[in-house]
Amino acid sequence: MKRVSIFGATGSVGLSTLDLVRRDPEAYGVVALTANSDVGSLAALARETGAQVAVIGQERLYGALKAALAGSGIEAAAGEEALVEAAARGADWTMASIVGCAGLKPTMAALKAGGTVALANKESLVSAGGLMMDAARQSGATLLPVDSEHNAIFQCLAGSSLDDVARIILTASGGPFRTKSRAEMAAMTPAQAVAHPNWSMGAKISVDSATMMNKGLELIEAAYLFPVGLDRIEILVHPQSVIHSMVEYRDRSTLAQLGSPDMRIPIAHALAWPQRIATPCQPLDLARIGRLDFEAPDMERFPALRLARAAAGEGGATPAILNAANEIAVAAFLDGRIGFLDIAMIVEDVLQRYGAPRPGTIDDVLAADAEARAQAGQVMERLTA
Ligand code: NAD
Ligand code: MG
Repeated sequence: MKRVSIFGATGSVGLSTLDLVRRDPEAYGVVALTANSDVGSLAALARETGAQVAVIGQERLYGALKAALAGSGIEAAAGEEALVEAAARGADWTMASIVGCAGLKPTMAALKAGGTVALANKESLVSAGGLMMDAARQSGATLLPVDSEHNAIFQCLAGSSLDDVARIILTASGGPFRTKSRAEMAAMTPAQAVAHPNWSMGAKISVDSATMMNKGLELIEAAYLFPVGLDRIEILVHPQSVIHSMVEYRDRSTLAQLGSPDMRIPIAHALAWPQRIATPCQPLDLARIGRLDFEAPDMERFPALRLARAAAGEGGATPAILNAANEIAVAAFLDGRIGFLDIAMIVEDVLQRYGAPRPGTIDDVLAADAEARAQAGQVMERLTA
């Protein structure tokens, strides 16, 4: 039996993971499930799966969680420290699917504990990629990418040497505003931005897909996971989201991974790796899909792509600053406080006014993250004054 923990169990990726886990109760035992504030869903999932411990991120909700788990024998815990402790307990397999830099400390704790860490939480890797990769090397943890593109690249690499890779081609759907002009984008509402044409996802990553910052974050993520050099990682817009990414080798042979746009496919790959398990996902019907289209990304209409590539090139604390400013701007957009085009503008402004030395520790990363959030707040105040 594989002992699994799911951080961010109530989210889109967390629920997709649980959907696979509950199909085979003989194969998986649940150690820890966590959520930020949804006590009811967390308690129900913990009871259903017989989890050992349930952790709620918001400390003030401890009493509510304890009450919701009364009589179940399931341990209740709350707060940031409790998330880290639950990760440090170790599991054979941990899904890191908290959204945002909030997932950094628990993900680091899981990596330090060893075992296998399935990583969906791209913001943690973007902010602290060097430190996370070091932690995995030191503990011997296996880091498996769950982001569909990175999971595809991992599959296309199939153990080949990175020295043989000529290019990594990161595909992008282009998001809901792929064909929109800047003038049209300016008027887009949160509801329009989260309506992704192919994938059903949490609100934050859906907005990131609309600005294409998601692909920018994924570029940085790829550079840490597959260090072939930034100039060898290209972005290609592919509206159907059927090819999830490609690897071109130096002999000019190119491998692609294809599948329906369903996160349970890459999650199942990471859950069973190095084996395979059956999933309830739709088989790919290429005759019905008929055609696959490709186009170059438009850096003018999607400035987030340019900002992220520059941040990746600079390295150090710059990706953490980019990510933090983006998290603040996306939250403000979802709240209706700023316009769609303001998101990348705020990120660019923060990157121009604030730099931090190369982080040597997670606390350094979190300090740069906090300062970038404060700076983004100030930029926004000026904008909305
Ligand atoms: P979501 O918003 O649906 O779920 C987020 C989860 O994190 C929830 O369980 C929530 O309770 C928890 N959470 C949020 N803030 C927290 C905090 N401060 N402390 C503790 N827990 C907190 O998000 P999602 O779409 O499932 O995405 C999760 C991660 O996976 C993101 O990093 C995203 O970029 C990545 N990802 C998602 C998809 C997808 O299809 N949804 C695909 C690829 C990568
Ligand atoms: Mg992705």
